[in-house]
Amino acid sequence: MITAGLEAIALTGADRLLPGAAGRGMVFTLHHVRPATNRPYEPNALLSITPEFLDAAIREARERGYVPLALDELPDAVAAAKNGERYVAFTLDDGCRDNAEHAAPVFRRHGVPYTLFITKGLVERTHTMWWETAEELTRTCDRFAFDFGAGIETVVCATTAQKHAAFLRLADFIEAIDEDAAVARLNDVAAAQGVDPAAIVEEQVMDADALRRLAKTDPLARFGVHTVSHCNLARVDADRLEREIVEPIEAITNWTGVQPRTIAYPYGWKRACTAREAAAARRAGLTVGVTTQPGVVDPAETQDWMLLPRVSLNGLYQKRRYVRALLSGIPFRLM
Ligand SMILES: [Zn+2]
Repeated sequence: MITAGLEAIALTGADRLLPGAAGRGMVFTLHHVRPATNRPYEPNALLSITPEFLDAAIREARERGYVPLALDELPDAVAAAKNGERYVAFTLDDGCRDNAEHAAPVFRRHGVPYTLFITKGLVERTHTMWWETAEELTRTCDRFAFDFGAGIETVVCATTAQKHAAFLRLADFIEAIDEDAAVARLNDVAAAQGVDPAAIVEEQVMDADALRRLAKTDPLARFGVHTVSHCNLARVDADRLEREIVEPIEAITNWTGVQPRTIAYPYGWKRACTAREAAAARRAGLTVGVTTQPGVVDPAETQDWMLLPRVSLNGLYQKRRYVRALLSGIPFRLM
């Protein structure tokens, strides 16, 4: 359905017929940027695009008249935009090592600034990424024992379909009970099966040295807050909410030499970032917040710079013509 819609917009040239749909700006969400692995089972495939697709997306945005700038510059630029002026900001969540290796060279080649959202607990190796742990567990095992709340059961994940089903059950489980407890239980089960959740973080996420190096060598790189634990902020109490935002501000300032002004709320959907989380971010001195709810940035419609929509450059839709369709803004007028 999504593919058909994007194809239709790209094919019909609807983007030229409805120029007003585009708004004044667009913020793109990325996670991993790395060569395609083309593995048969990749439940997190949507979170991974190739450097070539990033290159194509930047070219397409420029060709459509979008001026790239850093996310923290977007509010002022958009507010002052005159007729036809449009801006695009590229953001990358979770601080993946491949961002420095594969994405930074593309941004540098085009002179495009980019913002990395940093999770303090991943940088410091005190936390893990349940979605990566769940992928590795379901990829490497044919079965495992798990207590989803009704006692220990055997989860069979021998076929690709069973692996996808098991991954979805684990994802639902993370949302169903206390997130820390759910992640801890998953980590225990993974460890018992020979999967090391901490090793996945070490392999995939930049540590403090890597962040320092990138900040020192690439003036196009900006850094924003992605909490301490990568939890759903709407599910934690007020004290924890404050710590999840304030502690990364101090840490990122130490690592990069620049105090962050932006935040990406983990998950980013409506139930993970409400007015309460936006207010906490503002209290902490941040000036721009981004969700993962799709949409264009338009001063006529954007009431809250702490809850900006973002558009995913999605690993499942890596075609330049889809980027053109997204930049038209039309898909978000139809939702
Ligand atoms: Zn994230």
